[in-house]
Amino acid sequence: MIVTPQHDEGGVPLVAIVGRPNVGKSRLFNRLTGTRFAIVEDMPGVTRDRQYGEAVWFKRRFQVVDTGGFEPESIDELLVQMREQAHLAIDEADIIIFMVDGQSGLLPADREIAAMLRRTKKPIFTVVNKVDGDRHDMNVPEFYELGVSGEIHGISAEHGRGISDFMDDLLELVPIEKAEAEPDDELIRVAVIGKPNAGKSSLVNRLLGEERLLTSEVPGTTRDAINTYVEAGGKKYLFIDTAGVRRKRSISQRVEKYSVVHSFKAVDRADVVVYMLDATQGVTTQDQRLAGLALDKGRAMVLLLNKWDLVDKDHKTADAHIAALRDQLKFQPDAPVVTLSALTGQRAHKVLPMVDKVHAEYIRRVPTGELNRVIAEAVARNPPAVRSNSRLKIFYASQVATRPPTFMFVVNDTALIHFSYQRYLVNSLRAKYGFAGVPIKVFFRGRKNNEENER
Ligand code: GDP
Ligand code: GDP
Repeated sequence: MIVTPQHDEGGVPLVAIVGRPNVGKSRLFNRLTGTRFAIVEDMPGVTRDRQYGEAVWFKRRFQVVDTGGFEPESIDELLVQMREQAHLAIDEADIIIFMVDGQSGLLPADREIAAMLRRTKKPIFTVVNKVDGDRHDMNVPEFYELGVSGEIHGISAEHGRGISDFMDDLLELVPIEKAEAEPDDELIRVAVIGKPNAGKSSLVNRLLGEERLLTSEVPGTTRDAINTYVEAGGKKYLFIDTAGVRRKRSISQRVEKYSVVHSFKAVDRADVVVYMLDATQGVTTQDQRLAGLALDKGRAMVLLLNKWDLVDKDHKTADAHIAALRDQLKFQPDAPVVTLSALTGQRAHKVLPMVDKVHAEYIRRVPTGELNRVIAEAVARNPPAVRSNSRLKIFYASQVATRPPTFMFVVNDTALIHFSYQRYLVNSLRAKYGFAGVPIKVFFRGRKNNEENER
């Protein structure tokens, strides 16, 4: 086995929006990310995190985090939240948007945040929000005394005023996306994620070989994401952000929040997400949220139930645990589950073969002729219902992309697609092809007025 740690050169920049409650952070977040959440099938039981999103502006792609969280009830709580947000942005973001409210004016909490932000060298854009019209322009200058960034932009997140000027400046820091290099099907990019203490570091160390990795770690660089190339069993893997996995912090609410942002970045770059749970603890909301990131990004997934050595068991235990797990993480049907112990090594050797398996599904391409036969059979077995005097007709289907498998259906009229029928089509594909552990994306294109309807 060959292990090569490397500093991470790339990834999409992460933009964090920081500011006290009610200044308009989530409005701006929505404006930047639009409603472009990739909706992949229907997965009840998934906690979707609306604070993390992806934005594409003029061919530039970046990730956005709205650092706002709970509504503080006291000044103390407010300060704690401000501090968390600022730390989160300073540690994890590449670009920071510091938002203040032009209608309420400069408040002490703004000064608190500014004081923390001034300590970072990362690029910061100060935006004065709620500058809805000319009469609010004069509210902008007072914020210059915060001294956080050179120019200050007056914007209205609600009405869109000033946004394009502001974005012109911000986008200068975001590289234009290179024409997607032909993805390398030989290299499997893996992110191991899960709650703190699930056992991720133990597993990664075991898979990578502890000594070799430790000796190659450069002091003072543990903040940076480190990718580690591994060759094993004739396959090449890239473990994303092994430093993040290995980083140790005291357990606090802050860590939980970090782990979401951190995981969000890792998942973005992965093909396969290895989601690890502590079998002695069961599935929490945090697990649903973290694992939901993989779904939102359309990644392949393997589930690990770790610390199996601590579970009292008989011959039925594994099935019962797996059934409970599937019930609580109701997405990605049939994602393979491995019960293991990263500590003793029991069944740890099964992890990489499972990764290979879901990866093969993730990059699988179904020939068009065969696909159309499968769809025609599915339609014949269960024809679409008549809706407002017309019936959905599927003219043609084609797999337009892999990673994840994405299917386009050309139909007579997209208004005739019922959600349950869409699900039936996806289920028919799964019944025929499996695609275990992999989300399937479908969209419909109507012959009538050529509209498109992404699902
Ligand atoms: P957050 O707590 O910072 O995320 O703030 P929100 O995005 O939830 O916005 C707080 C309130 O400010 C909401 O009532 C918004 O409608 C309002 N708001 C946000 N942006 C603007 C704006 O540009 N102009 C005005 N007038 N109101 C805004
Ligand atoms: P991480 O925060 O997810 O990276 O978790 P760590 O790998 O640091 O593990 C957290 C704690 O759980 C450590 O004390 C590990 O020794 C322990 N641990 C990890 N895997 C197992 C396991 O399979 N069985 C048992 N009993 N303990 C484990």
